[in-house]
Amino acid sequence: MLTTLLDRLGNFADRILLTDESGEHSAQDLQRAAARVHDLLSSRGVQPGDRVALLTAPGLQYAAGMLGTWSLGAMSVPLCPDHPPAEIAYVLDDSGAAAVLVDDAQRALIERVSDHRATVLHLDVDALTNTDPRNALLRPSRADIDSPALMLYTSGTTGRPKGVVHTHATLTAQMSSLIDAWGWTEQDRILHFLPLHHLHGLVNKLLCPLYIGARCDMLARFDARTVFERIATGEYTVIMAVPTVYAKLIDAWSNADPDTRARWSQGCRDLRVMLSGSAALPVPVLERWREISGHTLLERYGMTEIGIALSNPLHGERRPGFVGTATPGMHVRVVDDGRVVAGDGAVVQTDGAAGELEVRGSNVFVGYWNRPDETTASFTDDGWFRTGDQVVVEQGSFRIAGRLSTDIIKSGGYKISALEIESVLTAHPSIAECTVVGVPDDTWGERIGAAVVLRAGTSLDLESLRSWARNELAGYKLPTLLRVVEALPRNVMGKVLKPEARTWFLEHPSDPTTGAA
Ligand code: AMP
Repeated sequence: MLTTLLDRLGNFADRILLTDESGEHSAQDLQRAAARVHDLLSSRGVQPGDRVALLTAPGLQYAAGMLGTWSLGAMSVPLCPDHPPAEIAYVLDDSGAAAVLVDDAQRALIERVSDHRATVLHLDVDALTNTDPRNALLRPSRADIDSPALMLYTSGTTGRPKGVVHTHATLTAQMSSLIDAWGWTEQDRILHFLPLHHLHGLVNKLLCPLYIGARCDMLARFDARTVFERIATGEYTVIMAVPTVYAKLIDAWSNADPDTRARWSQGCRDLRVMLSGSAALPVPVLERWREISGHTLLERYGMTEIGIALSNPLHGERRPGFVGTATPGMHVRVVDDGRVVAGDGAVVQTDGAAGELEVRGSNVFVGYWNRPDETTASFTDDGWFRTGDQVVVEQGSFRIAGRLSTDIIKSGGYKISALEIESVLTAHPSIAECTVVGVPDDTWGERIGAAVVLRAGTSLDLESLRSWARNELAGYKLPTLLRVVEALPRNVMGKVLKPEARTWFLEHPSDPTTGAA
């Protein structure tokens, strides 16, 4: 029997579950604040099933905004405060949001968003944090477990963002699965600094701790020194981040003085687990982080549509470059050319199998908002979700080769993983960041293009890069095009926008392939 987050909160009474810029908040504080949001929405005519967008700073107002929306039976649609007004307008329009909840911090932004029909409702943080015990607690939810709860928009790294609809049941299944997989308990304390309009920041880092009654300390934004200083207090047990965050932490650590480094490293050693996901973790980053923190990052794989489907183990060997096996409740299989080549349940045995990953299980979304054809196309006839990711199975563990649409380069008859090449190039002493893309070519089908950001004071040319990489990569995997650029185009989750990177090669196909920084 699934118990939703709304029902669970009543178990935690005056336990502190959240901290933010306005202070510490207990489960009851959160229930009172959510009840006020519920009343506000209901007084403005919001109905069960309506979409309610959420645009606030991280903290009590955010959690209360979502819970108050849910208790009314409406669907929460998180927006990203770092997105330009046009993208916010797109989501408001596409979702048909009846209302948008904003706090003081985001008022100016919503005023710049024109052309939408959502009623702007202001959340007064002072009123929400009023802990007067006479204020009503959240009422039991009117929402059915299978009713839509959340619509997250896809990252849009390949096309126009689509609304991914999760129900209370699929979200609750995700939380239960991760609590089991990663050993969450009410003793845990996590530091939160990721965006909240994405599954990683929202479900894994905020909803999971709330569900189990652990504590989530929310920073207004990511800052490497602040994160290290907080970790150094020794109060935290869990850290979760994307690979670019670990790369920034490594930079900050490398630039710090020896005493500071020692304090920061000790703080990391006191944690019980550090996780990475949402994009490929290059092995050199994993190795450097292990030297600094004493932790082998627990890498896992997930998607907005399916939650977390694959994870390295909490206890046991975490293989660098691999993302482990199916999470509790998920089934996975590998399909090549319409044929199942590995797995048909939770356990995958076939070694060396390669193909597209397909998944099914209670975590999986119910459909794309207002896109029935795309929803149908994303599932097989027998109900497996096609992830669009190419994977390889080795010794029972999965390696992600990349998205079939952008990361699998077809060159000279080979299928080459851009992620594998990126992982190798990241270890080059001159390369600070890199991305690898397939560039259309009449002879080869595609050529391998590497765009790199160089470390200060270094230079690089294609031939020296190729000869350096030859020890690690087969000849056909070596880049044949190189661009030195100032910065890589990334979305707010740190993911590289590959179609944009590819245009560098398309626009100037015969440019020189050398550069200096
Ligand atoms: P999103 O829906 O924005 O979370 O993006 C999901 C996509 O991110 C997946 O389809 C993968 O291509 C990629 N991804 C997530 N986790 C990993 C990982 N650990 N390694 C490689 N790619 C990943």
